[in-house]
Amino acid sequence: MISKNAERRNFLLLKRTIILILCSYFLLTTIAHAEEKVDEDQQKIQLFKQMEVLTFIPWYYYAAINQYESNLIDDKQLIHITIPDEKWYGLAPIREKTNASIISMFGGMGMDGDGDRIADPKNPRDTLLTIGTYLQQFGYTEQDIKTALWHYYKRELTVLSIMNYAKLFKKYQSITFDTTAFPIPKGYNYSYRNTWGDARGFGGRRIHEGTDIFADYGTPVRSTQYGVVELKGWNKYGGWRIGIRDIYNRYHYFAHLNGFAEGIEVGDIVEAGQTIGSVGSSGYGPPGTAGKFPPHLHYGLYKDDGKKEWSFDPYPYLKKWERNNP
Ligand SMILES: [Zn+2]
Repeated sequence: MISKNAERRNFLLLKRTIILILCSYFLLTTIAHAEEKVDEDQQKIQLFKQMEVLTFIPWYYYAAINQYESNLIDDKQLIHITIPDEKWYGLAPIREKTNASIISMFGGMGMDGDGDRIADPKNPRDTLLTIGTYLQQFGYTEQDIKTALWHYYKRELTVLSIMNYAKLFKKYQSITFDTTAFPIPKGYNYSYRNTWGDARGFGGRRIHEGTDIFADYGTPVRSTQYGVVELKGWNKYGGWRIGIRDIYNRYHYFAHLNGFAEGIEVGDIVEAGQTIGSVGSSGYGPPGTAGKFPPHLHYGLYKDDGKKEWSFDPYPYLKKWERNNP
């Protein structure tokens, strides 16, 4: 007969083994998923580069359009560009398996990119060639592409986002940007709790759209993602604030800053973990107002759904980024 102690030891050993197996399972599947994503991204870049050869439109514009549109849809397709039927088919009466030349006769923009003569809006090569040919009509410079996108989407934020994504993709020659960072670097004191939706004191009846991270004056504030600076300056509520758009149609808003990192300007690319400013207590008055509340970083997150922007709770994201804070 084994003693109670030995029984307990065995049980603990078994428990530890099970935990170890589970942990390595999760670790391995996470790694597998990450690799899968990189493979898929490589596959996409290949396709965009083939389109560049056909149209002379740089690959990163295809990538940027696809990135923007794929953020609007939640499925697992490789290419997500959705061209509305009225644009694709024009006035063509038949809308299925339609020959590209017939569509063109009826003023539609749909083209055949894979050589089967059918212009299929669900076929990635067909949609990419169609978009590329549309862009070509306006020319090949950055400004030309911007103009073309404006004519196509007729929405400033969409055009701006796509142009910014293209800038990132071009600079890093990649479409994979998964690195994240907590806004406050390791080694600094800070505290925060979930204040989403709380009432706030200044500016009438507004609810609190963000998380307040309390820290000392001058504590560095870092970008949480790769992105492009979309806004920088004073606002009577937010004080000195800066806004960064990431490639997931999300806008990161950092307010009440003491000041900005030197040289940082609207249109600049920032990396996850890059210092963009420091904690302060600016705001709640005309430019330069400070000290009306304890120093903290107000961090807000907004999502563009292609029609409007809405704020969502950053707290769970902050918790996650804090756990793998580099
Ligand atoms: Zn706040």
